[in-house]
Amino acid sequence: IAFLEECHPDAELAPRDVVSRAIYRRMIATHARFVSLDMSSLSSPSIRFPALAKICREFGIDIETETIPVRPAVHYLVGGIKSNLHGQTSIQGLFAVGECASTGFHGANRMGSNSLLEGLVHGRICGKNISKYATAERRWLSPVLENVQPQIDAELNLNDMTYSLKSLMWSEVGIQRSAAGLEEAHELLKDWESYLSRLAPFTPQGIEVLNMVQVAQAIARCAAYRTESRGAHYRDDYPQSSEDWKVHTCVRADAQQFVITSEANKWAAPKTA
Ligand SMILES: Cc1cc2nc3c(=O)[nH]c(=O)nc-3n(C[C@H](O)[C@H](O)[C@H](O)COP(=O)(O)OP(=O)(O)OC[C@H]3O[C@@H](n4cnc5c(N)ncnc54)[C@H](O)[C@@H]3O)c2cc1C
Repeated sequence: IAFLEECHPDAELAPRDVVSRAIYRRMIATHARFVSLDMSSLSSPSIRFPALAKICREFGIDIETETIPVRPAVHYLVGGIKSNLHGQTSIQGLFAVGECASTGFHGANRMGSNSLLEGLVHGRICGKNISKYATAERRWLSPVLENVQPQIDAELNLNDMTYSLKSLMWSEVGIQRSAAGLEEAHELLKDWESYLSRLAPFTPQGIEVLNMVQVAQAIARCAAYRTESRGAHYRDDYPQSSEDWKVHTCVRADAQQFVITSEANKWAAPKTA
């Protein structure tokens, strides 16, 4: 049964957050693990989408005659390390460019193809700037880990932790969020961070998982802070957008605490009378 027309006048071509939520709700309502994409109304879909046709063939699906199982997934981090147009962050010598950077280019929902465009344009500008910096100055940002002793006499399965983290982020900080779910995520993430940070000496994988947990905490705190819905951020308990929230949410770690502030969008179009 076609269901996207009921959700948005543009149906399958609606903004991606609308499509994702509609699929997610449909999956919950029908207890299904996926919904089916029917491309049979298009003429020669395998010529128009050769890469997709090839992948589907690997799974034994002929997109000319069969439906494709689909479900939502994260495919972009809307937000990132705050940096200026030259890629400079608040730490001298640390640059952020591309998907990991938050420059203000994107709104609440990145528009199609704008990530690759950003990588191309911002990458070129920043690359030039960074090469000048690198020839002029040499500073190495390396953590001092030699004397760090573990405070916990236990082993942790880091792969297991990573899967648990992904699962928690999907269920409580994912497509549909609520104050209760975000609070639950916050409590769990706090425990995991405390545990992980006492497991030194760190391996690269241990540091990576700890970083992931800290980024997850920042995302969960910001999602709880923003009491409205906008683009990819959807709150069950605040389903509408609010004029008051036309701002960027900034979070920084200060003395082991997250400090959240709102900042005006510097690219916003000037208000007309
Ligand atoms: C399925 C999918 C479809 C997409 N479709 C589009 C689209 O149609 N249009 C569009 O504009 N965008 C699209 N995007 C988004 C876009 O692909 C990404 O935002 C973009 O590629 C990000 O580029 P980047 O160079 O910033 O980061 P990445 O491409 O993620 O590059 C980061 C690199 O750093 C490396 N790395 C990671 N950790 C370390 C480490 N510790 N040491 C050394 N190297 C490391 C990684 O291996 C990787 O090569 C899509 C994304 C996905 C997942």
